[in-house]
Amino acid sequence: MKIYKSYIGRQLLVMAIIPAIVIGIAITYMSTRVVYNVKLDDTKDFLKSSIAALEFNYDFSSFSDSEFYEDENGIVYFRGEKVSDEYEIVDMSKDFTGAEVSLFYENKRIATTIKREDGSRFTRTTADEVWNNYCIKGESYFDTEVIINDEEYFGYYVPIVSDEGMAVGMLFAGLPSATVHNTIHKMNQSAVMICAFLCFVVVVIAVFQTNKVLRILNSVLGYLSDINNENFRHELPDHIVNRNDEFGRIGRQLVELNDSLRISVENDMLTGLYNRRVAMKKLNKCVVWANGENNETFTFAICDIDHFKYVNDTYGHSCGDLVLKAVADVLLQVNEQDGFAARWGGEEFIIVLKKPVREAIADINKIADEIRNIRINYEDKIVSITMTFGVTEYISPQKIDLTISTADKLLYKGKEDGRDKVVF
Ligand code: GH3
Ligand code: MG
Ligand code: MG
Repeated sequence: MKIYKSYIGRQLLVMAIIPAIVIGIAITYMSTRVVYNVKLDDTKDFLKSSIAALEFNYDFSSFSDSEFYEDENGIVYFRGEKVSDEYEIVDMSKDFTGAEVSLFYENKRIATTIKREDGSRFTRTTADEVWNNYCIKGESYFDTEVIINDEEYFGYYVPIVSDEGMAVGMLFAGLPSATVHNTIHKMNQSAVMICAFLCFVVVVIAVFQTNKVLRILNSVLGYLSDINNENFRHELPDHIVNRNDEFGRIGRQLVELNDSLRISVENDMLTGLYNRRVAMKKLNKCVVWANGENNETFTFAICDIDHFKYVNDTYGHSCGDLVLKAVADVLLQVNEQDGFAARWGGEEFIIVLKKPVREAIADINKIADEIRNIRINYEDKIVSITMTFGVTEYISPQKIDLTISTADKLLYKGKEDGRDKVVF
């Protein structure tokens, strides 16, 4: 049975897969947040150290206000050295760290590694907001959305403070946001892939386990429906009956139920022989067998205890029951493969042998002899009985009712002729 067609199958899958997906999404979301925050801290640290490297290269350790000045053409000097449009130090820093860097005199970008589209440096520009709001007050500034030359950066600005404690300029280090996001994206991709893979594993396990449960349920259902249809010969597979769980317990209980139902439905309580209902079913099967390709015949006999009423009347009903059991014990020797015997009703039995009368008659005579030899010790008395047999042959494509009535007539004839006879 397909899982999605089974209610239990669908429920089991939902119970396993929905939590797996929800947990998967939650873990993915949390891991992307963690990845983002870690990368943010990393980038901050990286930019800080890039600025430290730049600071080292400019050797700003002995920086003082008097050493930073701008001439009338806007050219800025540091310790007498021209720094406007001098890119050796910024380029060296970028080569060393990989980050874009800039040097600001107050809010003015004096030197930078950032280039315009035409290749010229993005100098003679300002960063007014950062300067006015943060660095002029001696505060550093970090942002993930710094727009420089129409490009977005993760940027870090650190004020350059003179010996007098005045902010006189800024150092900037930045990484293009696209680069940082790209790295974050790659890291997230792995987290998403791992989560998706784990979800897939959970789904595969859930489908496998659900299938297993459904297979067991279907076997149990098939077994139950066979019991319901009075097919007590179906076997419940060992792998279910031997299980050490609820399924195993249900299986074992069903097997017991099957066996006791089979006995009470198929067998006569007193003698243990098949009852008339099962006998009729088995007879019909014999008819099908006989009408098959090989056109077989079988022997059908009805036998009846002679003067059984006398036994009951003389020795009592319990003694009669013992006689019936003793007769049944003789009839039980009819091998299932050769045919069967059954209690037809009262003190009447039938014998079916899958062979023609000329071969079966010896078996029937042997049974008649054994019955004659029965001795029942009952309350210090020895009871013996005889039986009369009406024996005929089923020949395809005869109706079974005709076979039964023929055997019945032969039995009646035997009774008429003095009983204790095998008539065929
Ligand atoms: P016949 O030789 O003509 O067959 O005579 P009979 O006495 O055997 O035949 P009849 O049909 O007159 O009697 C059958 C008796 O079998 C009547 C009935 O009470 C008895 N009987 C039927 N079923 C049972 C049973 O289960 N136990 C006992 N003890 N007696 C039964
Ligand atoms: Mg009778
Ligand atoms: Mg009788």
